[in-house]
Amino acid sequence: MTLPPLPQPYLPPLREVINAHGLFATKALGQNFLFDEQLLARIAAIPGALRGQNVLEVGPGPGGLTRALLRAGANVTAIEMDPRCMAPLAELADAFPGQLTVIQGDALKIPADSLFAGEPYAILANLPYNVGTMLFTNWLSGESWPPRWTSLTLMFQQEVAERIVAGTDTDGYGRLAVLAQWRATPKIAMRVHRSAFTPPPKVMSAMVHVTPAAMPEGVSARMLERVTEAAFGQRRKMLRQSLKGLPGALAALETLGIDAARRAETLSVAEFVAIAQVLTPA
Ligand code: SAM
Repeated sequence: MTLPPLPQPYLPPLREVINAHGLFATKALGQNFLFDEQLLARIAAIPGALRGQNVLEVGPGPGGLTRALLRAGANVTAIEMDPRCMAPLAELADAFPGQLTVIQGDALKIPADSLFAGEPYAILANLPYNVGTMLFTNWLSGESWPPRWTSLTLMFQQEVAERIVAGTDTDGYGRLAVLAQWRATPKIAMRVHRSAFTPPPKVMSAMVHVTPAAMPEGVSARMLERVTEAAFGQRRKMLRQSLKGLPGALAALETLGIDAARRAETLSVAEFVAIAQVLTPA
């Protein structure tokens, strides 16, 4: 069935919105805005069709990505810290009645699952890199799986994006890769040139798209974290050295036939999971 086209209200160019509200970018809030509406529409399309879907957007700023999400027909809840953005976001809410709820606050302090009345939701964000990495880690760390979010579509600096998707035995491979890959599937969906942002950051960026996958049985997320923390805490050392402080870990290597002379970066995600499985109390 083909759905009827969505009404598309007129919206002024984003640069006009910025000027009208005196929204010059603030470094302290990690503000690098995107104005290219075609690029924003491509980013909003990464998670797939959003019509009628719940979306959590973190850090909407003046609302560039928000308008792309609203135009795609999503029901958006947006969390933004900067009070100066409330007026332009209220204008967007008026232009798309019933589609946009704005919460002024710190996304690090608002549990995403408390929103959307228990319904599933997709998460999209172009965030300051430090906040983005912290939220990403939180969203992937819970013991309960699958999560209520259906996908994460997040902007990272390119080097962090590479670390998230890194394979075994590469420079970027580490705790972030294992966290992102053991029960989810991350991919780099789009590279974004620094010149696309105003002001341009020093480094290149990339959109990472993550969908939840099946969780291996009998593994505590916290235990896996302890194993990777110990192993990559001394990544150049052999496992017999880096894991010796973790009770039962060396015996687990023996049980699994993993050579204790190997280094953390040579272990596959599945091998890390197997170690955590042995160490997780039944
Ligand atoms: N999404 C807009 C865009 O793409 O043009 C703005 C992106 S800008 C890189 C990041 C936005 O996140 C800013 O508007 C900033 O105020 C907001 N922000 C920073 N830290 C935040 C936090 N802890 N919680 C919510 N919003 C935050």
